Amino acid sequence: MPRSSAYRYSHFLPSALLLLAGLGAAYVRDLSVFFTSLFNVLPTLVLLLGGAYCAVYRRQRELFLMVTVYIAYFLLDTQTDYYRDNGKLREDAAVTFHLCCLLLPMLYGLFGAWQERTHLLQDMVARFAVLMAVGGVAIGLEQSFPQAVLNWLAEIRWPALHGDWMSLAQLAYPVFFLVFALLGVQYIRSPRPLHAAQLVGLAGLFWMLPKTFILPFTLNIMCSQVMLMIAAAVAHEAYQMAFRDELTGLPGRRALNERLQRLGRNYVIAMTDVDHFKRFNDTHGHDVGDQVLRLVASKLGKVGGGGRAYRYGGEEFALVFAGKTLEQCQPYLEEIRELIAAYIIHLRDPDRPVDDQQGRQRRGAGAASQVSVTVSIGVAERQLEHRTPEEVLKAADQALYAAKGAGRNCVIAHGQNRRGAVRTREAA
Ligand code: GH3
Ligand code: MG
Ligand code: MG
Repeated sequence: MPRSSAYRYSHFLPSALLLLAGLGAAYVRDLSVFFTSLFNVLPTLVLLLGGAYCAVYRRQRELFLMVTVYIAYFLLDTQTDYYRDNGKLREDAAVTFHLCCLLLPMLYGLFGAWQERTHLLQDMVARFAVLMAVGGVAIGLEQSFPQAVLNWLAEIRWPALHGDWMSLAQLAYPVFFLVFALLGVQYIRSPRPLHAAQLVGLAGLFWMLPKTFILPFTLNIMCSQVMLMIAAAVAHEAYQMAFRDELTGLPGRRALNERLQRLGRNYVIAMTDVDHFKRFNDTHGHDVGDQVLRLVASKLGKVGGGGRAYRYGGEEFALVFAGKTLEQCQPYLEEIRELIAAYIIHLRDPDRPVDDQQGRQRRGAGAASQVSVTVSIGVAERQLEHRTPEEVLKAADQALYAAKGAGRNCVIAHGQNRRGAVRTREAA
């Protein structure tokens, strides 16, 4: 089970905004020619661009989700166009609609939960085969026994559970429910932007289907939005991969470089390094070392005073305080240093989690060896002699070096003498 901090509302944000925009656009009456033309080409455009994007990132799962949504859009759009042009439904409208309402959530759930594990080409062939098989059987049955298929789909199987609000075939509701549950569990087990987008996308489809023939362009708009949600999630995950450090979850070096370009006139940079970490790794093993890095990162991530923590590399972290002076930041740096030094880590086995909550739950059972780590911090602010962020960072690094020389587990400001630093440490 992932830590609770792994669930982020930001995973849902882009999709939720796209959903709201879709809902809003679907209710707009009297669209101008510009928008009617746009909505006619939008789903195809989104599929082509989004599909190409997924292909570049080799994301088959997302590609097939988009294709599934597009096929449903295409089949239903043919029906709504006929309805708009002729004022009546095409002969096969009911059976096509009910089939789409059943197969769209089923295939969406299947492709959404089907992880990419095998070889890329095999994976693609397998997904394609499933799509073709399901599509082929559905078309075959619909062509050969249209009435029987329609009766089977439209049958009210559970009269006691049938509500007046149900505008889809009754069978579609349990299917949607099961797919919601499946994708919900998937998000809980693995909280990722893509899994969040799949859930919001399914909600969009669930809202869209009953309105297909009632609200003009609902189909075009919502199918485009769902495909966009998936493409946006791929972009979100690519961004995370580039800018977040996987081990600690903190923003990484690239994110720091970006941030350094956008700092104002006043700012403070602190470089933090775990003391004797090599020795710690050698004594307790690399896995425990990794857990401790995560712990240190989680503490640094909570630094006060508006500071933002980044993993600089290895066991080094940078803290950036925008719009702050050295004097304002120093108490927060001292506080975080003390917090880390005071934290007792209980080790029982090499793969024992150092995660706060789990650790507390498992504590007390069996003998535990206790360890702790300390950090040294070098800090510098923007001044006349170091104006650029790179220069300030270098000055902070020099101060860190001085902090190591002063006996570690202390905070030293650039230009501060060592004796002062030792006093800071001893006073703590
Ligand atoms: P000092 O107090 O002078 O900083 O001593 P140190 O041992 O921490 O310094 P040094 O920079 O020589 O060692 C850093 C060590 O950090 C080396 C490496 O084993 C360890 N390290 C770097 N990145 C990781 C990581 O991602 N996971 C783990 N477990 N260890 C790491
Ligand atoms: Mg180091
Ligand atoms: Mg170190």
